[in-house]
Amino acid sequence: MRYISTRGQAPVLGFEDTMLTGLARDGGLYVPEEVPALSHGDIAALAGLSYEEVAVRIMAPFVADAFDEATFADLVAKAYAGFGHDARAPLKQLAPNHFLLELFHGPTLAFKDFAMQLIGQMFQHSLAKRGQKVTIVGATSGDTGSAAIEAFRGLEAVDVFILYPHGRVSDVQRRQMTTPSESNVHALALTGHFDDCQARVKDMFNDFDFRDRVALAGVNSINFARVLAQVVYFFTAAVSLGAPHRKVSFTVPTGNFGDIFAGHIAKRMGLPIEHLVVATNQNDILHRCLTTGEYRTGEVHPSISPSMDIQVSSNFERALHLAYDGDGSAIAQLMAELKTGGFTVSQGALQALREVYASGRASEAQTSAAITRTLAHGAELLCPHSAVGVEVAEAHLGTTPMVTLATAHPAKFPDAVEAATGIRPPLPPRMADLFDRPERITRVDNDLTDIETLIDEARAA
Ligand SMILES: *Cc1c(COP(=O)(O)O)cnc(C)c1O
Repeated sequence: MRYISTRGQAPVLGFEDTMLTGLARDGGLYVPEEVPALSHGDIAALAGLSYEEVAVRIMAPFVADAFDEATFADLVAKAYAGFGHDARAPLKQLAPNHFLLELFHGPTLAFKDFAMQLIGQMFQHSLAKRGQKVTIVGATSGDTGSAAIEAFRGLEAVDVFILYPHGRVSDVQRRQMTTPSESNVHALALTGHFDDCQARVKDMFNDFDFRDRVALAGVNSINFARVLAQVVYFFTAAVSLGAPHRKVSFTVPTGNFGDIFAGHIAKRMGLPIEHLVVATNQNDILHRCLTTGEYRTGEVHPSISPSMDIQVSSNFERALHLAYDGDGSAIAQLMAELKTGGFTVSQGALQALREVYASGRASEAQTSAAITRTLAHGAELLCPHSAVGVEVAEAHLGTTPMVTLATAHPAKFPDAVEAATGIRPPLPPRMADLFDRPERITRVDNDLTDIETLIDEARAA
């Protein structure tokens, strides 16, 4: 399969190079040139298969030029072996027509593990085959960083540097990044917001001297391999609720738009998804854009769902690329306008977006109330991100089954959960000693040269 940039000016790549590259050299994001379609029969045949078997069937056409099917099946098996639930992504019923897809049974308790554990396996395999080493840089609001460090710790062929906003991640998130002792992983606490972290990562990719010198690779959801791994659970959930014979809707707590865009890919592949609902917290730029067509950045307002505190939602560019019928120069133009405050989506593109996406927002008070209410009604303790999803989903319930993605375990955000319920959710036993392990923290200013110097020095050490 060939992958092209959303901005139309970067080399066309196969899967392996797309995965190892991250951001395209024209500043765009890689997307498959064409999304393979599954037949009704192909989808029906997924019923009853294990998560891993479905994963191989869904992803095989996208990765075929990099891995033969037996090799890929082996990587998938290793990726999910460490999950704390046999179903990997179990579905729970909340109400007659409302289901919760639990995506937090991986090693760092957030859905990011689904992609990151697999990417760790794929990177290791590809780099060993090529005899290469890479430097991975990533920006995180907390969960991507911990998932990446967990997936890459101790691997020979990679050095990992994760930028997170100092003082704006939860203690559990920070400790998952700062307690691994392997010398190839580095958590950097940047003075600023998540958007600053993400902007500095993009700057490093656009500094071609640095990029080539350190063999830069990215594992943020700008990396298409991340999005791809997340397509799988839309299929497993929908098929267990009756697809392809019945339609299913999904509500996705959204920040960088990677997870919900995976749902869009699933729909393009033929999964009968009726509504894909974007759920935002008070940082509601995506909800406002889908409502008005205006994408205008403002201040980030820190919330109790910090992994969704965002103004520049990278993967929205991929959805825009589809909505503009693959017109790379139109996307490049919008992204240039974004640098100076925002852009207006054309009428035709807005209509195309609305055919796929609905949206809603949850305030801080509504989010807390959703945690309290869901515990009272169904004995399910939600993390604040999942609660944003449940709040928004409840406004979109209809005759089609609704699946809300539970993106993190409540124990990852114990303060918000305790404030709403009086219950402080304990960490699962396998990570109960997290607060006893020593931390390693490196502070860094929001300055590109400082960050690059630090990375050069750490690699030389
Ligand atoms: C990353 C994250 C999100 C947002 O996902 P995107 O793919 O960035 O939209 C939501 N909830 C949690 C817990 C996360 O870690």
